[in-house]
Amino acid sequence: MKLNVMVVDDSAVMRAMVKKSLSLCGIELGEVVEAANGVEALEKLASSWVDLALIDVNMPKMNGEELLNHIREDEATVPLNVIVISTEGSETRISRLKSKGARFLRKPFSPENLGNQIREMLGETHGDGSGNQALPVSGPDF
Ligand SMILES: [Mg+2]
Repeated sequence: MKLNVMVVDDSAVMRAMVKKSLSLCGIELGEVVEAANGVEALEKLASSWVDLALIDVNMPKMNGEELLNHIREDEATVPLNVIVISTEGSETRISRLKSKGARFLRKPFSPENLGNQIREMLGETHGDGSGNQALPVSGPDF
């Protein structure tokens, strides 16, 4: 069962680090798609099958929270698994993200942190009580 992942971050260095962590975290990876901001991410989500999106908060054009709002408003992307990755995580922001069915991972993180978050998220087939269903991984490939 391979996981298609989208890495959304305005920093190419950070995207490379996230990809490196993904490759080391023990998850079987399928395609990894990159986007430099929310606008680009929405464009790519429309044309590729993604199981999980790892999203930065501070980005030009459309930031991570705005992107999450768009994802949850669109029927096609509402079940997408989302982990927001940021250095800034006020309790207010984290609870707001969770209310929209996203998880939060603080930078810097280890591949183990990332792998654990992903495994926990994919194990959640009955939602987190927020009313947002975290769907089991499924897609055209399996
Ligand atoms: Mg950024």
